[in-house]
Amino acid sequence: QAKRRGKNQYCLYDEQMERQLIRRMELEKDLRIALMRDQFIIHYQPKWDASENRAIGVEALLRWNHPILGRIAPDEFIPIAEETGLIVPITRWVLGQACRDCFEWNENLEEPLSVSVNMSVSVFDSKNLEDMVTSALLHSGLEAALLELEITETIVMHNVEDVVAQLKPIREMGVIISMDDFGAGYSSLGSIDLIPFQTLKIDKLYMQQSDMPSKRAIIHTIIMLAKQLNLDVIAEGVETEQQIAFLQSAGCSWMQGFYFSKPMARADLDLWLQQSMLVSGRHTSQSLIG
Ligand code: C2E
Ligand code: MG
Ligand code: MG
Ligand code: MG
Repeated sequence: QAKRRGKNQYCLYDEQMERQLIRRMELEKDLRIALMRDQFIIHYQPKWDASENRAIGVEALLRWNHPILGRIAPDEFIPIAEETGLIVPITRWVLGQACRDCFEWNENLEEPLSVSVNMSVSVFDSKNLEDMVTSALLHSGLEAALLELEITETIVMHNVEDVVAQLKPIREMGVIISMDDFGAGYSSLGSIDLIPFQTLKIDKLYMQQSDMPSKRAIIHTIIMLAKQLNLDVIAEGVETEQQIAFLQSAGCSWMQGFYFSKPMARADLDLWLQQSMLVSGRHTSQSLIG
C-alpha cells in the first residue's frame, strides 16, 4: 500500500511539475507578442519624505495584463523576460513610457518628482543601456536628474568593471543610480563603493521584521553606512506608523510602502498627488486642480 501511495504522490508531483512547465512555456510564447499587443501597463508607487511630508518621486513597477490568464506579477514574468532576452525591448519600453509620464506630471507640479525604473542585471549584457537611457530622455524631454535607475545587489556578482563602465556615462548625464533591495543577501560590501550609486534602498524584508531587535540593529547600521558613504537612503515596504516612527528616529526620512500607497495606474497617481499636496498644504498649478 505504501508503494502505491508513493506512486500516487509521484504522479501528483509530476502533474504539478508538468502544469508549471506548460504555464511557463505558454507565458514565454505570449511574452514575445505582449509588447506589440500593448499588454503592459506601468503602475507607479510614490516615495515619501516623512520629514517634509511630501512625495519626492515614484517607482515604475511593470504589470502584464495577459488576455487569458489575467494580471501576471513581475516576479513571474521578469525572470522569463531575462532568460529569453525580451527584457531588453521591455526595459526600453518601460524607460520610454516612464520618462514621458514623468515629464507630463512635472509640467503641473511645483516641486519636481522623479521616476525610477528597475533594471535587470541582464540588461547590462546587451551593452546598449546608455543608448536606451539617452533616447528615452531625448524623446520625452525629461531632464536626466529626474530619472533614476534601480539596480539590485546581484550586480556585484556580475562583471563589476563592465557594469561600472556602462554606468559611468549614464551617471555623468545626471541620472541617479540606486541600489535596490539592499541587504537582501547577495550583498558584497567589498564592491558597493565601486559602483556609482547615489541611493540605498533598504530591502523590505527588514521592514517586515522590524519588530525584531536584531533587524532594527541592521536597519540602523545600513542607515549609518549610507551616511558614511554619503548616500541617500530610503526604506521600502513601510506599512505601519510604528515603522515610520522607528525609521525617523533612526535618521531615515525617505520611505515607500503600502502605508503611503500601493502602486497605482497613472490616472490614480495624478489624483493621489493632488490629494497629498492638498494635505501637506502645497499647491499645484491651475491645470492639475482644474
Ligand atoms: P522591487 O523593485 O523591489 O519593488 C518593490 C516591490 O514591493 C513591488 O512589487 C511593490 O509592489 C512591493 N511593495 C511596495 N510596497 C510594499 C509594502 O508596503 N509591502 C509589501 N509587502 N510589498 C510592497 P512588484 O510590483 O510585484 O514588483 C516585484 C519586483 O519585480 C520588483 O521589486 C522589481 O525587482 C521587479 N520589477 C518590477 N517592474 C520591473 C521592471 O519594469 N523591470 C525590471 N527589470 N524589474 C521589474
Ligand atoms: Mg525597485
Ligand atoms: Mg526593492
Ligand atoms: Mg525586488
